[in-house]
Amino acid sequence: MNLYHDLEKWDKEYVWHPFTQMKAYRESKPLIIDRGEGSYLFDVEGKRYLDGYASLWVNVHGHNDKELNKALHEQVEKIAHSTLLGSANVPSILLAKKLAEITPGHLSKVFYSDTGAASVEIALKIAYQYWKNIDSEKYSQKNKFISLNEAYHGDTVGAVSVGGIDLFHRIFEPLLFERIPMPSPYTYRMTEYGDAEAVKKYCLDELEKLLKERADEVAGLIIEPLVQGAAGMITQPFGFLKEVEKLCRKYHVLLICDEVAVGWGRTGSLFACEQEDVVPDIMCVGKGITGGYMPLAATITHDQIFNAFLGEPDEHKTFYHGHTYTGNQLVCAVALKNIELIEKRELIKDIAKKSKHLEEKLNILYELPVVGDIRQRGLMVGIEIVKDRTSKETFTTKENIVPDIIQTARQNGLIIRELGPVITMMPILSMTETELDQMVEIVYRSIQTVTTSLSL
Ligand code: PLP
Repeated sequence: MNLYHDLEKWDKEYVWHPFTQMKAYRESKPLIIDRGEGSYLFDVEGKRYLDGYASLWVNVHGHNDKELNKALHEQVEKIAHSTLLGSANVPSILLAKKLAEITPGHLSKVFYSDTGAASVEIALKIAYQYWKNIDSEKYSQKNKFISLNEAYHGDTVGAVSVGGIDLFHRIFEPLLFERIPMPSPYTYRMTEYGDAEAVKKYCLDELEKLLKERADEVAGLIIEPLVQGAAGMITQPFGFLKEVEKLCRKYHVLLICDEVAVGWGRTGSLFACEQEDVVPDIMCVGKGITGGYMPLAATITHDQIFNAFLGEPDEHKTFYHGHTYTGNQLVCAVALKNIELIEKRELIKDIAKKSKHLEEKLNILYELPVVGDIRQRGLMVGIEIVKDRTSKETFTTKENIVPDIIQTARQNGLIIRELGPVITMMPILSMTETELDQMVEIVYRSIQTVTTSLSL
C-alpha cells in the first residue's frame, strides 16, 4: 500500500476544497500535510515546506507550540464544551476580560463566533439593530452599509453582501442585500489621480459625497484597516483610516473595523487600527486569535451599543443570534494562552523589527522585470506581477504566470499563494529573519525560473 496514493485518491473522491477549481485540482498532485513544526509543514512523504502563508494567515507562534499544546490538553482534561446559552464557562469569561483589556478604547463587550465571516455577520446585524433599538422610527431608513471596492469580509451571505470582489460575489447577486460601494485607495492602479496622497483625497471626497447624500440610509461602514488582504494586499495611504473614522463620526455612521486578517500583530501592532489611533464602534477579530490552532472569532463593541440591547422582553431589544459552539472552552483556552504568549514573547516588538528587515530584503525582487509593485505592511506582503512594468499591463487570466510561480515555490519548499496577479506572503509571525530571507530567496528564484522558461 502506498499511503500517499490512497490519500490522494480519497481526497479527490470525497473532499470538496474551499475556493478551489475542483476540475483542475483533480488533475493536480495535491499537497497532503501530515504535521507541522515551528515555521515548517511536512507532507505525508516527509518533504518539508516553509509555511509562508501561516496556514491561511492564522499561525502566530509556529506549529506544534508546546505551550499552546499544553493549554489545550489541560482544558480538554476538564471539559471540551458546554453551552453559553443560559450558562457561562471559565475560559470564555477570562478571554472576554482579556480582550476588553487589550482592544482599543472602551471596546468591552465580546460576542463569540467561530469564523471571521460569522464575526462580520454579527457586526452587521448588531449595527443594523442598534439603530432600530434606539429609535426605530427616526432611524427606519438606516438599513445599508458602505464598504470598499474589492473588499473581502468572508463568505456567508451577509459578509458576501458587503464584499466587493466580483469573482466571489457575482453569481450570488440575487441573494445579497444592497451595499453602497466606495472607492478603495489602490494607489498603484490609480495613477490618473496622482500620488498616494491624491488617491487618498479622491477616495475620501467620494466617501464624503456619499455620506452627505445618503447617511440617513447608512447603518455602518465596514473596512479592513490598513490593508485590503484578499484584494491583493492593497495598502492604504497613511492617515486614510483616521479620515474614514472622522467622516463616520461626522455623519453618524457606525465604524466597523474588520481586523480578521490584520489583527494579532500582522501589520506590526496588535490591532491595525491602533496605528492610526482609531477606535471602531465594532471590531471583528478571528484567524490569529487562537494562534492558528482552532476556529474562533469575536465581535467586540462598546457599552453605548451594548446598552441599546438591554430592555424588557416586550421591548424586543434582544440580539437573537448565536451558534452551537459559541464560546467553546477549548478554543477560548487556547486563545487565552496565545495572547499570553504574544505578550510574554514580546512578539509585537519583534514583528516591527522583522518587518523593516523584510522590507529591505523584498526590494531585491524589483530586479525581476515582471515585478510591478511590492506592497507590504508588517508581515503582510503582495507582489503584483505585470507583463510590462511601464504600462503596468497585466497578464490575461489565461496567461497568468502567478500560479506557476506558486507551484515552483512549492517544489522549492515554500508555501505561498496567489490572489489573481498578486503573489502573497503571510509568513508565520514568529518566523526568524533567516527564515524570512529564505522565503524571499525562494520567491525570487521561482519567479526567475518561470520567466526564464517562458523567455519573458
Ligand atoms: N474578513 C477578512 C478581512 C478576511 O480576510 C477574512 C478571511 O480571509 C474574513 C473576514 C473571513 O474569515 P473566515 O475565513 O474565518 O470566515
